[in-house]
This record gives sequence, structure tokens and C-alpha cells, in this order.
Amino acid sequence: MPQVPKWLADTMIAVASPWLRQAVVSDTTMLSDELKLITFKGDFDDEDFLPGKIVQFRVDDTSFRHYTLSSFNKQQGLCTVLFYLHGKGPGSQWATNLQIGQEVRFRAGQGKLKYNEQGKHHFFFGDETAIGLFNWYKTTALACSHEYFGVLELHPQHAVALNTLKIMIDYVHASPEAPAVNAISWMEDMHPDCWNTWQRATFYLAGRALSISRFRKYLLQKGVEASQIRTDAYWADGKRGL
Ligand SMILES: Cc1cc2nc3c(=O)[nH]c(=O)nc-3n(C[C@H](O)[C@H](O)[C@H](O)COP(=O)(O)OP(=O)(O)OC[C@H]3O[C@@H](n4cnc5c(N)ncnc54)[C@H](O)[C@@H]3O)c2cc1C
Repeated sequence: MPQVPKWLADTMIAVASPWLRQAVVSDTTMLSDELKLITFKGDFDDEDFLPGKIVQFRVDDTSFRHYTLSSFNKQQGLCTVLFYLHGKGPGSQWATNLQIGQEVRFRAGQGKLKYNEQGKHHFFFGDETAIGLFNWYKTTALACSHEYFGVLELHPQHAVALNTLKIMIDYVHASPEAPAVNAISWMEDMHPDCWNTWQRATFYLAGRALSISRFRKYLLQKGVEASQIRTDAYWADGKRGL
């Protein structure tokens, strides 16, 4: 429920209180002008967060928003979230204002996307909102001696985040009017030998709903099995808080 009356939001927080995680902002780093990496420190001794873990914050009196953990260090009690500050809603505004020392509470749950530990090849497609997810997937792939590859639709000023996080995948320019079109052209330019290797990968599609549905359709047309494709729409044009 992304938006509820204040009295209901208060009640939900009170009822869920025993299950809510408490943490404090211990670091904030701008990876670009609109990508803010926030480190939370808390007591996570009883947690075993896995890649793809989703967290939900109350971002104002009436709104809740979902985000994805970008990393987790149980021993140090640290986790990170990479927020895209698109400036269009209360979630983005709340993340913009988060400062070191601020206390937060959040609910954690397993997301729709799960890393395929049996697969050796992992292909990422998404946008700014999915960089955090793919950062943890990249770390997991390297730890498992798996290979990863992929393409993101980004506003070019945010591509620097891929270098900073050492996520070795490509990007194309995001196009609001033509979701997934530039990424599909990028796929079409792929050398056939390269496609031979990657066509049996696990494909993870996260971010804009329209881009995901078009890219998924394209993959199916290319002969990728539906069972190889894992999707999670993180936002949809004109919709608030998925
Ligand atoms: C499971 C899940 C995990 C997510 N993980 C992350 C994450 O790790 N990092 C992250 O930054 N976001 C993440 N998101 C996306 C984030 O929750 C949305 O962007 C959300 O809309 C932000 O809330 P808001 O209040 O700022 O905007 P809203 O009030 O929800 O939306 C206001 C307007 O902004 C538009 N909008 C929303 N997102 C975008 C966007 N990316 N680009 C352009 N316009 C947009 C909406 O279409 C709407 O018109 C995740 C979402 C889900 C469902």
C-alpha cells in the first residue's frame, strides 16, 4: 500500500513495530547529482539478508516506498541503499533529505527477484533504480565465480555510478518516449558469438515497467525461454509507489 490516510499509516507502524528494523544513517555519498548511496548502521545480528532484499520506508505521513539493498555486511551491521533522486515524489524527497545521524525504521522482505545460484551467466537490464540491486548481484556473481553482463537505460550523467561501483556492464541513453528501444538496438549489435554465450543466461529485468515488458518480449522473440527471465517492475509512468 504506497499511500494511506495518516491514521492508518500510524496504526500500521504501531502494529508492525516489533518487526521493524531500526538503523541510523552512517554515511551518504553522491555517486552522481541524483544518485545517493546511503549506508545504514543497525543491529542486524539476527538477519541474513540475501541479494534482492527489499526494504520499505515510511517517507511521509501517508506514504510508504520500496527500495532494494545494494550491499549487506552482517559483521559490521551495515547495509546500503542506492536512491535515485528523480524529484517527482515523496520518496525521492525523503531520500534527498536523509542525513548522517538520522534514525530510520524499515520493514525488510524478500523481493520478487532471486539470484539464480545454479546459473553461471547472469544478464542485467534496468535503469537507475536497479543499480543498487545489480551492485549486490555483481558482488555475488564474482564471489561465486559466475559471469555477469548487461545493459542499463540511463540518463548519461548517472553512468559514472557504474564505474564507481565497478559494475562492468554497458549503458544506453534512457528514452522516455521509447522504452527499451535503445537497449534492444544494443542487443541487435551484439556479436553472434557473444549471443551464443549469453542466450542461456538468467536474465534479470528491473526498473521501468514499460521497458521491462518490451525487453522481455524481445528476449522471448530471440528464443530465450520464459523460465530464464526474472522481472520486477520498480516504477511505472504516472503511477505512485509500486
Ligand atoms: C521492489 C522495489 C524496489 C525498488 N528499489 C529501488 C531502489 O533500490 N532504488 C531506487 O531509487 N528506487 C527503487 N524503487 C523504485 C522507487 O520505489 C520508485 O521510484 C518510487 O516511485 C519512488 O517514490 P516517489 O515517492 O519518489 O515517487 P512516486 O510518488 O511513487 O511517483 C511520482 C512520479 O514519479 C514517477 N517516477 C517514479 N520513479 C521514477 C523514475 N525512476 N524515473 C522517472 N520517474 C519516476 C512516477 O511514475 C510518478 O509519476 C523500487 C521499487 C520497488 C517496487
